[in-house]
Amino acid sequence: IRPPESKQATTLLVAVRCRPLTPREQARSRDILRVVDDKVVFVLDPDVSKDYLDRVQNRSKEKQYVFDVAFGPESTNKDVYEKTVSAMVGGVIQGLNATVFAYGATGSGKTHTMAGTEDDPGLMVLSLQKIFTLIAKEESKHEFEVTCSYLEVYNEVIYDLLEKSSGHLELREDPDQGVTVAGLKRIQVNSAEKILELLKQGNSRRKTESTNANATSSRSHAVLEIIIKRKQRNHYRSQVLHGKLALVDLAGSERASETNNAGQKLRDGANINKSLLALANCINALGKQQKKGLAYVPYRNSKLTRLLKDGLSGNSRTVMVANVSSGGDQYHHTTNTLKYADRAKEI
Ligand code: ADP
Ligand code: MG
Repeated sequence: IRPPESKQATTLLVAVRCRPLTPREQARSRDILRVVDDKVVFVLDPDVSKDYLDRVQNRSKEKQYVFDVAFGPESTNKDVYEKTVSAMVGGVIQGLNATVFAYGATGSGKTHTMAGTEDDPGLMVLSLQKIFTLIAKEESKHEFEVTCSYLEVYNEVIYDLLEKSSGHLELREDPDQGVTVAGLKRIQVNSAEKILELLKQGNSRRKTESTNANATSSRSHAVLEIIIKRKQRNHYRSQVLHGKLALVDLAGSERASETNNAGQKLRDGANINKSLLALANCINALGKQQKKGLAYVPYRNSKLTRLLKDGLSGNSRTVMVANVSSGGDQYHHTTNTLKYADRAKEI
């Protein structure tokens, strides 16, 4: 049984994370981002050689943005987790839905933020750790079952990242369970430790292809879905509550028009824009819904938004982590991402 749709609107928390320059990047690029007061991001003019006159006449490209929360280059995944997803996990144990997106250009730090490394586990791993800690506290009164699936949407086709060679999977509308993916592998997990290995394997199966925009441009959206079933012990008629946490490593947000390609790769670009555009449109519509009451939210326009509908509607909570690189050579992507996140903030 899914919790009843409440009239309470979706809430969106917008976070920005600036990743540090790698030693190699430091040699050829200037650090152009400054984070102040955990909320404000300053973008410096990447062109240091600018005329003094340009600066005094305010023709500089310097800009300032304010977000719900902003993370500087020294922040860890744990820092990001504590100020974004941490507070939502309790609700998921109680049967609510939540969705977390990592948005940003290729190379901006999305996968680092979501999956992370052994030394610095990402939001996917940290969320699961918290889930198991919370469950342990309630296990005397409730029975829990935690399952995970990991899929990618590539070219508007769904593939299973937990399978070695997955075929195309189809979306189904189930009257009781909502939208499901037919044939998707769902594994039961009993600890968070196992998940990093599965994520690594899954990520190595993601479809990446070199493009003119970047040598390892990731064109797929990866979705980790954690479902928690909860049932009161010693109550044979107790309702089973379903909570769902979706963590999404989005495809690179660089625009298709910027990649000077033809054929297959151009179609990829168009489709990625389709899913990202659909997501942006849904987020906009949810914003209007919150301000003016009912508004039509176009979930059906892409695989990604159909898939995530439950986690974006009703009384769900959503977090967007917009990732940007501090490098001056990324100025264009960084500005696009900050503008996008700035618009989403209205919700
Ligand atoms: P994306 O998934 O957005 O394409 P990645 O997560 O793969 O980007 O990050 C690109 C590179 O930058 C990787 O080598 C990654 O290890 C590094 N990186 C990203 N974010 C951080 C961070 N916060 N601290 C240190 N290195 C990072
Ligand atoms: Mg990535």
